[in-house]
Amino acid sequence: MQLSNWILIYSLAILLIPLAGYVLFIIRDGNIAWELSHTRLGRCTSCQRVFLVKRHALAPRCPRCHAVTVTYLSKN
Ligand SMILES: [Zn+2]
Repeated sequence: MQLSNWILIYSLAILLIPLAGYVLFIIRDGNIAWELSHTRLGRCTSCQRVFLVKRHALAPRCPRCHAVTVTYLSKN
């Protein structure tokens, strides 16, 4: 095999490896499942309603009954 063929194969490999990596990155990025943060969830101690706590809420209250809430994973 001549040297020009090896240079052609090497050039194609140099171009195709990043392209294949980019395609795999796009495929993997589309399959990522979004998850809701459990630390941002509040559970009402009165009516057991689970809701999203607003970002800067110091003492979040239940939107339905305004009772005191605990974090979602808490056993109280
Ligand atoms: Zn409630």
